[in-house]
Amino acid sequence: MITPENILSSAKRLCQTLVGLGLFVLATLAQAENIAVQAGWLFDSEKGRLLEKRTVHIVDGKVESVERGFTQRDGERVIDLRAFSVLPGLMDMHTHLSYEFGPRTYSEAFTWNPADYTLRAVNTAERTLMAGFTTVRDLGDSGNVTVSLRNAINRGDIVGPRVYTAGKSIATTGGHADPTNGHRHDLMGSPGPADGVINGVASAREAVRQRYKEGADLIKITATGGVLSVAKSGQNPQFMQDEVEAIVETAKDYGFTVAVHAHGKEGMERAIRAGVDSIEHGTYMDDKTMALMVDHGTWYVPTLLAGDWVTQKSTVEGFFPEMVRTKAAQIGPLIQDTFQRAHKKGVKIAYGTDTGVSRHGDNAREFALMVQGGMSPADAIRSATWNAAQLLNAQDELGNIAPGKHADMVAVIGNPLEDITTLERVRFVMKGGKVYKQPE
Ligand SMILES: [Zn+2]
Repeated sequence: MITPENILSSAKRLCQTLVGLGLFVLATLAQAENIAVQAGWLFDSEKGRLLEKRTVHIVDGKVESVERGFTQRDGERVIDLRAFSVLPGLMDMHTHLSYEFGPRTYSEAFTWNPADYTLRAVNTAERTLMAGFTTVRDLGDSGNVTVSLRNAINRGDIVGPRVYTAGKSIATTGGHADPTNGHRHDLMGSPGPADGVINGVASAREAVRQRYKEGADLIKITATGGVLSVAKSGQNPQFMQDEVEAIVETAKDYGFTVAVHAHGKEGMERAIRAGVDSIEHGTYMDDKTMALMVDHGTWYVPTLLAGDWVTQKSTVEGFFPEMVRTKAAQIGPLIQDTFQRAHKKGVKIAYGTDTGVSRHGDNAREFALMVQGGMSPADAIRSATWNAAQLLNAQDELGNIAPGKHADMVAVIGNPLEDITTLERVRFVMKGGKVYKQPE
């Protein structure tokens, strides 16, 4: 007999069944994400050593545990990497995903729309991830395109690394990141804080707040001249002490770290004293600068690959405008020696390539240059994992393969501690428990 009570209780049963079914489906989905990665060797980036025969258990994109031997639990999908060395996902602390330098770069400023840069970045982001770099900092774009890029990657719309972006770099008028440097007079205008150009304390604050509004993750400033901008000096100081202090103080309010492009010593030292987080390139630092960095705990991101690349290109007739070629030939060859000295002095080093100068996907070539500069392979790998995570203030989530961290890992054939160039041939890439590249 149909009564209201009956209807109610049937409805209740139906609901219970649906809820049960729903939970079952959810449970099945969760189950499907349980993975056991069986690694022949596993790099422990905290201690800088390879451990033999380990299994990484992954639940919902995060490492749940790391066990000795090859183990498997009920319902786990096994990924067999017993013939491989497995390392934490590599991290490049200095890239420009929306740029890729070539002979036409200087005219792009006049002909490219943000959409053009974005579409290029979709391509470079994928190449970066496939090369084993699961996390990068983007240290300067235009049109705010790397914020949208990061968001699209996080939504799963496109394939790429975890991106921490500075958005538009901040310069002073005529400085390295002034977007209208080298333009015809009537096209130079006078860009302001929104375009990344500041003069004085108030506009320094405004530029940082503008980056916050636009969705950046950190701040990048160009404290001295640079090689590739069409400007005379590659090393003059370009921020006054109070300007860089205003940048750092404001950045702290928003939880931003500050990355600083610098070649010349004076501009670099002003930035270090102001309390910035990292010095990029750092070409002309001397013993005093290094001691100051050790005192302040400032990170050094060497970008040896960019130094190497501009040195080579400076010998190619007509590749650079003459003003740029002169600086490239002067500054490029010095960085390797700076790195060697800084490493000996105990300056903290995080891995960064300035890729976008050199080709995207070649990021791992920096490792060999670091080893040539006297760093052990283990320390070079630590700079691209453990150290990089600290520089990002993301050591709770990234930097090694340990419980609670993102399941970001790569695998290579052979022993990277014996042959660092194995990292140039990454065969397996996982980010957040999802496999993007598998051995053929
Ligand atoms: Zn750069």
